[in-house]
Amino acid sequence: MVFTGTFDEAGLTRAIVETKRAGFDLIEIPLMDPATFDRHLAARLLREHDLAASASLGLSESTDLTSADPAVVAAGERMLGECLDIVGAIGGTHLCGVIYGAMRKYMEPATPAGRASSAAALRRLASRAADLGIHLSLEVVNRYETNLMNTAREALVFIDEIGHDNVSVHLDTYHMNIEEAGLLTPVLDVGGRLGYVHIGESHRGYLGSGTVDFGSFFRGLGRIGYDGPVVFESFSSAVVNANLSNTLGIWRNLWQDSADLAAHANTFIRNQLAATESIAIQ
Ligand code: MN
Repeated sequence: MVFTGTFDEAGLTRAIVETKRAGFDLIEIPLMDPATFDRHLAARLLREHDLAASASLGLSESTDLTSADPAVVAAGERMLGECLDIVGAIGGTHLCGVIYGAMRKYMEPATPAGRASSAAALRRLASRAADLGIHLSLEVVNRYETNLMNTAREALVFIDEIGHDNVSVHLDTYHMNIEEAGLLTPVLDVGGRLGYVHIGESHRGYLGSGTVDFGSFFRGLGRIGYDGPVVFESFSSAVVNANLSNTLGIWRNLWQDSADLAAHANTFIRNQLAATESIAIQ
């Protein structure tokens, strides 16, 4: 979403070439519409440009694993199964995001039955994912995008309910900045069960231009010895995917120059990681 909101050949090529050029080793592909995604094209482009890939998505009301309607839960499980096949086909090892329920503002709390339904489906999907060499990570997002879990501690409780070791926590600094009391303790609490990281600023624009306490977050990653994906996430009305932009409320233009934004983010993240490593040496 830094370079394109359209995942046809032109969009994928631009995203892959520019992500590599900005200094990243991996690109995360949104799989909001797996039915129209060309996995063979993506696999070829990733190979050609020597870039690793992961995939993410948020479920919708028609694929909500917490739904009281078994047909909706079945549709969600089917769609996630399809996403696993796609991740496998593009050589990815991680599927993450809001894959436990619909990514939307709920007008009521999660129900015990909804939690149990989602946990059961994710337990089955985790086994299937393990067979494909893919790891599932559940993204902790703010109260306006899920009612199931908004903090790292709540995520640990839900992952215990799933009870499968191929499922881990996916933390995102943008959401943590809204819901957590600080950015260090949640990382330490999750520890070895942290499987995926999104680095986003408080307004989802340039890193370092908002209120997120990145120093504490990266020190936490260093303390737990985290070695999984660290992915920059940013949105602006300059790049639009109707499905995703409207759900996330991207109404404002935070940047225009995708290449400058991405190169800046890559340097920012690598500098934070290097600074954290320098502390570990002492
Ligand atoms: Mn995120």
